[in-house]
Amino acid sequence: MYDVVIVGAGVVGCSVAAYLSRYQMKLAVLEKENDVSMGSTRANSAIVHAGYDPLPGTLMAKYNVRGSQLYPELCEKLSVPFQQIGSFVLAFSPEEDKTVQKLYDRGVANGVEGLRILSKEETLKMEPALSDKITSALYAPTGAIVSPWKFTIAMAENACENGSEFFFDHPVTAIEKTENGFRVTADGETFETRVVINAAGTHSDQINDMAAPHSFTIHPNKGQYYVLDKNQGQVVHSVIFQCPSKVGKGVLVSPTVDGNLIVGPDAVDVSSPDDCSTDREGLQFVVNQAMRSTSAFNLREAIRNFAGVRAATEIDDFIIGPVDGVPGFFNLAGIKSPGLTSAPAIGEDMPRILAESGYTFPKKENCIDRREAVIFHTLSHEERAEMVKKNPLYGRVICRCETITEGEIVDALHRPLPPHTIDGVKRRCGCGLGRCQGGFCGPRVQEIIARELNLNYMDIEKDKTGSYILLAETKGGEL
Ligand SMILES: Cc1cc2nc3c(=O)[nH]c(=O)nc-3n(C[C@H](O)[C@H](O)[C@H](O)COP(=O)(O)OP(=O)(O)OC[C@H]3O[C@@H](n4cnc5c(N)ncnc54)[C@H](O)[C@@H]3O)c2cc1C
Repeated sequence: MYDVVIVGAGVVGCSVAAYLSRYQMKLAVLEKENDVSMGSTRANSAIVHAGYDPLPGTLMAKYNVRGSQLYPELCEKLSVPFQQIGSFVLAFSPEEDKTVQKLYDRGVANGVEGLRILSKEETLKMEPALSDKITSALYAPTGAIVSPWKFTIAMAENACENGSEFFFDHPVTAIEKTENGFRVTADGETFETRVVINAAGTHSDQINDMAAPHSFTIHPNKGQYYVLDKNQGQVVHSVIFQCPSKVGKGVLVSPTVDGNLIVGPDAVDVSSPDDCSTDREGLQFVVNQAMRSTSAFNLREAIRNFAGVRAATEIDDFIIGPVDGVPGFFNLAGIKSPGLTSAPAIGEDMPRILAESGYTFPKKENCIDRREAVIFHTLSHEERAEMVKKNPLYGRVICRCETITEGEIVDALHRPLPPHTIDGVKRRCGCGLGRCQGGFCGPRVQEIIARELNLNYMDIEKDKTGSYILLAETKGGEL
C-alpha cells in the first residue's frame, strides 16, 4: 500500500516527489512515457520568471514568486545550470508604457524585488542590440534562465535517492475509490494508495475525470521556437520579453544556459494535448515578432525548431488542492506558465496541502539534499586534467559540438534514474544539443548506452517508446 501516488513525472510531479520524499511515506510516481520531463517540461522557454506577470492574489503569483526565490539554492545544491541574467519587458508605444507601469505595480504587489522602469536610453545602454523603437522597459534583476530538463531530472533523482519509486511506461488508465483510498491502474498493474496527486500536465483533466466529477477542461495551446547556434548566444545578455497579451507572455529572445539563443513562442490553440509539430506559418510569426525587439540575430544560424503545449484551462489560474467530495485526491492541474518557475514552490507547499486534509507524515531524519554532476566543459584546465587523471573516460570527447565526454555519459547512465534512450542522455549531459544535433555523436551514444546498461544495440531508441533507429541487421549484405 502506497501513501502517495503521483501521476506525471514533469517538473511539477518531480518537484512534489522531491519535497514529499523528505517525509516518512511510501511514494510512487507513475509516468506514461519512458523518462521524466517528457511533457510541457521538455519544451518551453526555460525562464525562471521574476513574478510581475500573474495577477496579485492568484496561485500563479504566490507560487511564481516563491519558486523564483527557491531556484538559486536548489540549482546550486543539485548541480543544475541556472543563471540569474535578469529580464526586460519592452514597450513600443505610450499604450505599452502603461502596460509596463501596470506590470511594475503588479510585481511590487506580488513582492518581486528590485524591479525598475527604465527609459529607452537606460535600456539600450544595458542591451545595445535592442530596437531603437522601444519607448521604455521593465527591468527585473531576478529573472533567470535554467535547464528545465536538468532541473526536473535532478529533482527526480533526489526524490529517488530519498526513497521514492518511479514507474515509467506506466500510463494511468483507471482510478477506483477503495475503502482506504484508491486503486490506480497503470500498464496493467494496480497500485493501492491512500492519496493520489494528479500532476499530469496537458492530460490532467483526463486524470481528474477518472476519480472525480468533471470540473475543468484542458485547452491545449501550442508555442513554437527557434534555437540558434552558440555564436548567436551573446546577441542579448538578458531575457527580452515584449508586453504580454491575452494569449501569453509574447515572443521572447533570450540566451539559454547552454549558450544558445532561443526565439519564440507563438500561442495557438490546438486540438491534441500532445501536438508538438512545428509549421512555417507559426515560425514565421515568431521571427517577425522577435525582430521587433532586435534584428541583430542571424536566422541562418538556426539549429533546431521545437514546440511545446501549454495546459491552459477555462480558469486563468493554477488548479491546486484537494477535490471536494473525493477525499485523498489532489489536483495540481492546468499548470501553464509560470509552471516551471512555480514547481518547486508547489512541491514545498505540498506537505501543508496534504496536512490540511488530514494526511500528515513525520519528517525523515537524514535526507539527501545535494547531488553532484560534472559538466566537464565548465571546469578549469587544472580541474579537467585532474578529472582525466582520475577517470580517463573524461578525456574522450563524444559530442564535439558541446564538448561532452564519455565520463559524463557513463556517469548519467549509472545515476538513480538512468536514461536508456539517446535523447534521455542528451537531456542529462547535453550531447546532441549542438550544431550537428547528434548526427555525429548519436551512434556513439547508442553504443555506450548498450555497453553500460547491457542492452542490445538494436533496442536503443532515439526518444519515446517505439522510436527505434535501427530496424534490421544486415548479415553478409542481406537483410
Ligand atoms: C511554449 C511554452 C513555454 C513555457 N515557458 C515557460 C517559462 O519560460 N517559464 C515557466 O515558468 N513556465 C513555462 N511554461 C510552462 C511550463 O513548461 C509548465 O507549466 C510545466 O512544464 C508544467 O509541468 P507539469 O509537470 O505540470 O506538466 P508536464 O511537464 O506536461 O508533465 C506531465 C506529465 O504527466 C504525464 N502523464 C500524462 N498523462 C498521464 C497518464 N495517464 N499516466 C501517467 N502519466 C501521465 C506526461 O507524460 C508528462 O510527463 C511554458 C510552457 C509552454 C508550453
